[in-house]
Order: sequence, then structure tokens, then C-alpha cells
Amino acid sequence: MSKRETAEKKMVLPGDVIASPEEFMPGKNTYEQEDSVRATLPGQVEKDLSKREVAVRAAVRPKALAVGDVVVGQVEAAMSSTAGVRITFVNGRQTLGGFPGTIFTRGERGGRGVRRTYVKLGDVVRAKVSSTLNGMNQLSIEEPHLGVLATLCSVCGTPLTKDGRAPTCQVCGSVEERKFADDFGSPDIRP
Ligand SMILES: [Zn+2]
Repeated sequence: MSKRETAEKKMVLPGDVIASPEEFMPGKNTYEQEDSVRATLPGQVEKDLSKREVAVRAAVRPKALAVGDVVVGQVEAAMSSTAGVRITFVNGRQTLGGFPGTIFTRGERGGRGVRRTYVKLGDVVRAKVSSTLNGMNQLSIEEPHLGVLATLCSVCGTPLTKDGRAPTCQVCGSVEERKFADDFGSPDIRP
């Protein structure tokens, strides 16, 4: 056998024998059993000849989002110009694994240099996928139906309800500034 530096591109299933322990050490997603190294999940065999290690790269890839998808998720991180969202609904259907998404708030309209607060940590938002370039799910909340669906008062933590024009805390009276979805406060919000 010639010692090629290129990795062997071979698909395997869980339990398949991929090498002998004399040849290769068991690496990621493999285990040793009865004088053989086997795969723990479906994927592609990767042999590192310099380390004499064999591994399996998982074949399962999460379904990707597409531009135009309407998603609902919770804000996990809020910075001055971006917000990280954990997406749990895609086009009204729940996703088990969830997807990461990012809202860029800097480009959203705020008017005459006034920095508006669009979303806050913990908010539930409805957004539209505007780009998936380089595997990053860029989200927009500019349309009227997009924006915050549920949020807590930033002063006292009470869930906000819509009372008249501006969402106001019923406990402490704080008027909260967000980019709300047009159906915020309605009794039957659908993702
Ligand atoms: Zn309050």
C-alpha cells in the first residue's frame, strides 16, 4: 500500500469497520471493538497519516435557511448594532435544532441620528432572512409585520401589553421602545 497524503473519501455507516487498530488510532466519531476501528455515525472516513489516526466526519447537515424565509426566534445577544437570534420557527413550522441568525440594526431607519433600541435580550422576534452569504443567516425586521412579538419591561420585567399606541408596562408605566411587529399585543400571534 502506498502512503498517500490525501484523505480517503469513503462513506460509512455506524458500526462499519474503517481500519484496524494496528494501522490507525480511533479518532473522532469512531470506537474500537474486536480488533477493528468502527464508525459511530454515518459520514466520511478521514485518515490522518501523519498522526496515524482515523476519524469520521458526520454526514448529517442541518437544513439551511433560504432568503425570504420568515422566522421566529429569541434574542440571545444584543449589541449596539447587531443582535444574535436563536431561530426556532421557520415559515410557521418549529425546527428542533434551531438556527442562528443575526439582525443588523445599524442600517435600520431610526431618524436623524437618534439611536433607537430595536430589540433587547430575551425578546421574541419575527424576522425575514435577507441573506445567507457565507452561511450567515442575516435577518431583517424592517417590514411592518416583522419585529418584536413578545418582550419584558426593561424596568420591572413584566411582560408588555399593547395599550393604545405605545406598548406600555401595566405595572410601572414604562413606555418601551422597540421595533414591534404590527400584530404585537394581539391575542393570537402566530409564528
Ligand atoms: Zn415595568
